[in-house]
Amino acid sequence: MTVPKFILRFDDVTPQMAWSRFNPFDELSLDLDLPLLVGVVPNCLDPTLVVEPAHEAFWDTVRGWAGRGWCIAQHGYTHQYVTPDAGILRLASRSELAGLSYEEQFFKLQAGKQILLDQGVWQPVFMAPSHSFDAVTLRALADLDFKYLTDGCGVYPYAMGRLTAVPQLFASALHFGFGVYSICLHVNTLSETDIERIIGFVRKNRSRFISFEEAASVKSALPGVATAMRFLTSTPLRAMRRLRGLKSHGSALCEVAGER
Ligand SMILES: [Zn+2]
Repeated sequence: MTVPKFILRFDDVTPQMAWSRFNPFDELSLDLDLPLLVGVVPNCLDPTLVVEPAHEAFWDTVRGWAGRGWCIAQHGYTHQYVTPDAGILRLASRSELAGLSYEEQFFKLQAGKQILLDQGVWQPVFMAPSHSFDAVTLRALADLDFKYLTDGCGVYPYAMGRLTAVPQLFASALHFGFGVYSICLHVNTLSETDIERIIGFVRKNRSRFISFEEAASVKSALPGVATAMRFLTSTPLRAMRRLRGLKSHGSALCEVAGER
């Protein structure tokens, strides 16, 4: 029996994020030699992501992470929501990209990519703000040589347009007993208790955590399972995600944090 694997994914990494809450995870990564997945906003103009004073050496820090094997995903361009479009995954009715023309989306994605390239940290991985992207986004991303998306249903990587989607289902360590899970964390809103709980879980389950690169190559041992899991998680997922403080859930799910 295979065991579930996890990636630690952090959204909204910007110069003015809550560094005081992120630094413990950076230390954890050093301590356990565990590469993280971070969504870096190339040119953050979203005032809701301004939480602490700007970290002046931001790009040096990001380059340092890349050097330690972290996955640096491009998290939009400016992180400003300009349409009420929920995109393909339909998780939130707001988008920086979905609903815009190919030209508009291509321009934003290219401008973001150029900033990351200039800083020497671009990787072919995209993380859509609010998980909202459409078929046009996928086309523009592929035309800009992006290869991976950190989003999607199911528990195994699959093709979405010309990209490979590495699924992201939960914001916690929920799992179905197999497959790969991206635990999606927003540093700016994590409480002290959340931070302690997550760090405790990672330390206890270090062997279950893998890099984004490894996750992208995980395959289902049984044919049909990957497709079935995508179907099973496509709709209940939306409802589940809306539940705050997910504590009780269906019997098919188990929270690893509570396991021995
Ligand atoms: Zn975001």
